[in-house]
Amino acid sequence: MKTVKVKTGRPYDILIQHNILPQAGEYIRPLTKAIRAVVVSDSNVAPLYAESVMKSLAANGFEVSLFTFQAGESAKRLATIEKMYLHFFEHNITRTDIVVALGGGVTGDMAGFAAASYLRGIDFVQIPTSLLSQVDSSVGGKTGVDLASGKNLVGAFWQPVLVLIDPETLHTLPEKFYTDGLGEVIKYGCIRDRCLFERLEKENARDFIDDVIYECVSIKRNVVENDERDTGERAILNFGHTFGHALEKLTHYTGLTHGEAVSAGAAILTRITEKKGLTEQGTARRLEKLLEKYHLPTDAAFELADIAAATRGDKKSTGKSVQFVFLKNIGECYIHKIDTADFGEFFGIG
Ligand code: MG
Repeated sequence: MKTVKVKTGRPYDILIQHNILPQAGEYIRPLTKAIRAVVVSDSNVAPLYAESVMKSLAANGFEVSLFTFQAGESAKRLATIEKMYLHFFEHNITRTDIVVALGGGVTGDMAGFAAASYLRGIDFVQIPTSLLSQVDSSVGGKTGVDLASGKNLVGAFWQPVLVLIDPETLHTLPEKFYTDGLGEVIKYGCIRDRCLFERLEKENARDFIDDVIYECVSIKRNVVENDERDTGERAILNFGHTFGHALEKLTHYTGLTHGEAVSAGAAILTRITEKKGLTEQGTARRLEKLLEKYHLPTDAAFELADIAAATRGDKKSTGKSVQFVFLKNIGECYIHKIDTADFGEFFGIG
């Protein structure tokens, strides 16, 4: 088993081990006095894994119930959270009980937000089952829901008490979602880990996926420990995301997966910064080649002017500027703010 310790305000462990799901209860039991546990999962994941997790919780003395919702980003809204609260109430969930998020990013974000807010906060455990949630969203305590006006606009920082990662679940993950997660994996290589990037170039990610998960989670841990509330360094995790979010917005959140949008955003941005001499020569081509190897896009069917315009209003923007993350080279990055008034000049658009 690989363990990553996260020393946030409320410290917790991330355990990475094959076939850990049927033992979930044993790892959760010592961390809580809970009598009841609610497993939150979606219509894709619940039929595959809920029974095994619930059995293990019951065997460890929990009274267990299951809340499921229709899989997909469209469920990530307050109406689903309200249904979750009602389920908690009907099952007599108290402040000392526990929520177990079993699924991908949408499940973790929503179950975490319900846990953060129900009775002003109850403990929760993350059991991420998609590559994206295993390498990224299950760590760091960001929880929330979308509004019709935009993604993740309502939420809370709420750290889990434990994260259990079972790489076996990736075998049941559709190819499209596996690729989605690889977009974030490549991002980690770009911003902090040249060795990971080079290994992704030389080998196939699937052949060392345990190491991939461990490396990505460790990078995220380091960044989150330094900046739990996302006021500084944590912004580097947004490499590719400023343009990526713009592309998601322009395609109405249906044309591209998150990982695809981030990949295209990273490639477009790096071509620009390299041309301007802000990124080491050859970096953009190397990034493009790696993205192509893993069937991720390196461009998008929109004019740069439209992409740039769609970045205004990004959550990471402050006042009149938009925050970007530029690569210095592979494995090194820095934050760069651009005044919206200077967009035209910087990006060479009218
Ligand atoms: Mg992301």
